[in-house]
Amino acid sequence: MSDSTGERRRVALVTGANKGIGREVARQLAVAGFTVIATARDAERGGAAVRELVAEGAGDLRFLRLDVTDQETVAEAARFVETNFAGLDVLVNNAGITGITRGQRKELDELTVDDLRAPLETNFVGVFAVTQAMLPMLRKASGRVVNLTSTLATFGRVVKEGPQRADLLPYLTAKAAANMASVVYAAALREAGVTVHAVSPGYIATDMNNFAGTKSVEEGARVVVGVATTGELPERALLVESGTLPW
Ligand code: NAP
Repeated sequence: MSDSTGERRRVALVTGANKGIGREVARQLAVAGFTVIATARDAERGGAAVRELVAEGAGDLRFLRLDVTDQETVAEAARFVETNFAGLDVLVNNAGITGITRGQRKELDELTVDDLRAPLETNFVGVFAVTQAMLPMLRKASGRVVNLTSTLATFGRVVKEGPQRADLLPYLTAKAAANMASVVYAAALREAGVTVHAVSPGYIATDMNNFAGTKSVEEGARVVVGVATTGELPERALLVESGTLPW
């Protein structure tokens, strides 16, 4: 697939692209000229978001159902990329959950293993599952993986200030595990020309924080898309809008 200059269009896949930062990342990547595989776990919500973006003239976006906790849909997405494209230039592992139901607060003693499972499955195992499945296509394109993380989940911050609230434990530990996966992948894939970065978008007003975030999805997505498209970036660092932060 080529653009009007005859060059191969770059291909990006975004998880959790039906709303929030992921939807806006998909839009901005499409505007930048990528063919974007915008994925979501719910076909109706995801399909509607992509139809809206295409109708707005954002560019070349395709919807694909992908639940990062459902290995069958992960494998199906990998087959889709392999069948339709020469490689995958950008993978944005955006899908994430806190595991906290809106407006509800739990004390530390109320947390159970079940509270831990869903955030770990989505934020950590899901990142691993999708990245592993896409590796052959990422290698073909010398692609880039961008993993969404949070400054709240850095050891530096939690050691110094403690967690904002105890019931963030599942989210913070899942993101911290994913951070380590980002660093391990980055080191292990360097020779293959595949780069892996973890980026925190800032405190963004989305469903995740009941729209308490202080910045817009446009601003958050700009940070993510910057990391997805900038040539040389600091390696094995936590990337934020202003540069890097210690883990
Ligand atoms: P959001 O509006 O709640 O969006 C989360 C997205 O992830 C939704 O599209 C959701 O789909 C999707 N998702 C959840 N579980 C999934 C699964 N199993 N498979 C596929 N998709 C799944 O939250 P957001 O703020 O945009 O968050 C996006 C990412 O940024 C997350 O990784 C989050 O941790 C990170 N982040 C956000 C902030 C912030 O201030 N907002 C700060 C730091 C990091 P459904 O609609 O189907 O639930």
